[in-house]
Amino acid sequence: MKKQLQPETLMMSHGYNPEWSEGAVKCPIFQTSTFVFKKAEQGKAYFELAYGLRTQEADESQGLIYSRLNNPDMEILEERLKLWDGAEACAVFESGMSAITTALFEFLQPGDLLLFSNPLYGGTDHFVHHVLTKWGITVRGFRPNATREEIVEIVESSGKKDRLGMILIETPANPTNALTDIALCKSIADQYSSSGRQVVVAVDNTYMGPLWQHPLQHGADLVLYSATKYIGGHSDVIAGACLGNMELIQRIKVLRTFLGNMIAPHTGWLLLRSLETLKIRMEKQAENAQVIASRLSQHPKIAKVFYLGLLTPEDSVNYEVYHRQCSSPGAMISFEVVGGEHEAFTFLNHLQIVKLAVSLGSTESLAQHPASMTHAGVAPEDKIAYGITDSLVRLSVGVENAEDLWWDLEQALEQIQNV
Ligand SMILES: *Cc1c(COP(=O)(O)O)cnc(C)c1O
Repeated sequence: MKKQLQPETLMMSHGYNPEWSEGAVKCPIFQTSTFVFKKAEQGKAYFELAYGLRTQEADESQGLIYSRLNNPDMEILEERLKLWDGAEACAVFESGMSAITTALFEFLQPGDLLLFSNPLYGGTDHFVHHVLTKWGITVRGFRPNATREEIVEIVESSGKKDRLGMILIETPANPTNALTDIALCKSIADQYSSSGRQVVVAVDNTYMGPLWQHPLQHGADLVLYSATKYIGGHSDVIAGACLGNMELIQRIKVLRTFLGNMIAPHTGWLLLRSLETLKIRMEKQAENAQVIASRLSQHPKIAKVFYLGLLTPEDSVNYEVYHRQCSSPGAMISFEVVGGEHEAFTFLNHLQIVKLAVSLGSTESLAQHPASMTHAGVAPEDKIAYGITDSLVRLSVGVENAEDLWWDLEQALEQIQNV
C-alpha cells in the first residue's frame, strides 16, 4: 500500500493475516502454552535465535516456541502498540507494575543510583523505596518543576554520581498533573553517560498515552504504560507495556522470559479489541473533561482545579512544558473542594453516576480521594510538598454524556454544607 496509514486505521489489521486462522477476520485467542515444530531442525533454529546463540539470517524470523517467550496475541499487540509511539520495539506484560519493575531491574545494578520525579504512582513509589533499596540501589527523588541546577545538585550530593543508572519520570504526575520536562532529563542523563554506560531515561506515560504525549520524540529511551488504563480502557483488565529501541527492548524481553511476567493470550486479545476504539474513546474523554474542568473552576464549592487545559501563560514553566510535550489536556482532573476530608468524602459519597473507585482512563468516570486511597502510603510531609491535600479529589472522566456527568457532579457538590 502506498499511502502511509494512521494508527487508528491500522488497529483493525496490522500484524495479523486472516489466512493464518481459517480466514477469521479477527485474530483468535491463541490459548496454547506451546507450539509444534515442523522438524527438529526448526526447533533448534528457533532456540538458537531466542537464546541469541547466532544472529538472524535476512530471510529468517523468530518462530513460535512456547507462550512464555512468544505467542501471536502478545506479538500482534506489540506490533500495534509500536505504531502509536513510533517505537522500534515493544514488550507487553501482565500488569503496568511488571513493565515498570522489569525495566528498573534490567537497567539498574546493586551500587547504582536511580533518580526519579515526585510524586510517583503509589505502587512505583513503594517499589523504589522498599524493594530497590534492599537490592543496594540508592534512590533520590526530585520535586515537580525542579530546575536543572537542583536536579544536578541531587545527583552530585548523592555520593553516587558515577553510578547514575536511570532517570524515571512520571509526567503528568498522578494525582496532581504536575509536569516534568523530558528533554531536560535527557540532557542530564547525557551529562552523566559515558561511552561504556548509558543513563536510561524512562517515562511512565500512563496519564497521557499513547495518544497525547510521545516521550521518545522528546529524548526518552523507554516509555512505560499501565495498559490497565487508557489502552485497556474498560476497567476489565490489568496489563502493561514498555517501548523503546530494539536493543533496550530485547534486554527487557529476555528478563521477562525469565521472570515469567509476560501478558497472557487472553489479556493480549482483550487489548487488541480495546485498541480498535482507543482514539475515539480518548478523544471523547478529553472533550468531556474540558467541559467539566472549566465548569468546576467556576463552582463556589471548589477551591482549586488542577487540569492541564486550565494552564495559562502565567504558569510559566508548566505552560511551556505542556505545550511542548502534550497534544491534549487529557481526561484526568483533580480539584480541591472547599473544606477538608469530610467535605471531599461528602462529595464522593453522593455521586450517582461517577463510580467511587481507583484506576483511570476508562469508559466510565471514576473518582477517588488520593490522600487516603491511592497515595495513602506517601509520607505526610511529601503529601504536603506535592499538593496531595485532604480536600483533593481525583476524577477520571469517561465517555458518558457530559451534561449527565455535570448534573451528577453538581448535585454531589450541593451536598457539601457551607464551611
Ligand atoms: C495504574 C498505574 C500504574 C500501575 O499499573 P498496573 O496496571 O495497576 O500494574 C503505574 N503507573 C501509573 C501512572 C498508573 O496510573
